[in-house]
Amino acid sequence: MDNTTSSDEKISKRQVTVGGLTIGNGSVTIIAGPCSVENREQIFSVAEAVRNNGGHILRGGAFKPRTSPYSFQGLGAEGLKYLAEAGRKYGLLTITEIMDAHDIPLICEMADILQVGTRNMFNYTLLKELGKIRKPVMLKRGFMATIEEWLLAAEYILMGGNEQVLFCERGIRTFEKYTRNTLDISSIPIVAKMKGFPVIVDPSHATGRTDIIIPLCRAAIAAGCDGLMIEVHPNPQKAKSDGMQSLTYEQFSKAMAAIKRACTFMSEENSCD
Ligand code: PEP
Ligand code: MN
Repeated sequence: MDNTTSSDEKISKRQVTVGGLTIGNGSVTIIAGPCSVENREQIFSVAEAVRNNGGHILRGGAFKPRTSPYSFQGLGAEGLKYLAEAGRKYGLLTITEIMDAHDIPLICEMADILQVGTRNMFNYTLLKELGKIRKPVMLKRGFMATIEEWLLAAEYILMGGNEQVLFCERGIRTFEKYTRNTLDISSIPIVAKMKGFPVIVDPSHATGRTDIIIPLCRAAIAAGCDGLMIEVHPNPQKAKSDGMQSLTYEQFSKAMAAIKRACTFMSEENSCD
């Protein structure tokens, strides 16, 4: 990796194309869905809401990295099946988290994009294995990772020949307590400038709350993000994970309207279609 690139040097923009969707072409890709796939009905319901509001990719965790081993750990393979079925029914691509290299063949078969979570950004064995596949990998920033460590983690995937990398800024741990993490807006133009790969912003995990998702989406769009990932749930109060930060359908509709306005405001090229 060339982390000595001078700030004036221009890196060409890298696009990631998956299932007919191009990420990083100047428009803002919307990834939305529940933190975890909880049952068939739930993921089908969210998929319909995501599709109806103009989202592109359905998210849903089946293998969940929970802080407490006593918390819901995800439905595993059954969850992947429901996610894939919901994506197919509503014409959405899918993304889900990979925690263990042993699950790579299964997840590659069931989902369109593999997500590496914040806790696994430093799992170099997993990253090397993901370098061998030919599917897009979204690499979330480690909550204690510097931008340089994050860029170097991506090199483990790229070195294997997998060029379909998406970066996801999801906030870093700071001394601040009013938000779950602190969204590092500056990483968006820095990573875009240094690597050229698309940068997705996840305001849900960055904040841990629903009331400031819209302003942070606006800020991310203004800073040049290529996509947003937002948690949505039919009944956040009953969610098995991350209910506190999950938007209701009504809140998601409002967020999508605000996102579209922000894209229009930023420029005609920066569209949300
Ligand atoms: C998630 O996307 O549900 C998730 C666990 O995110 P992170 O790895 O950023 O905490
Ligand atoms: Mn979550």
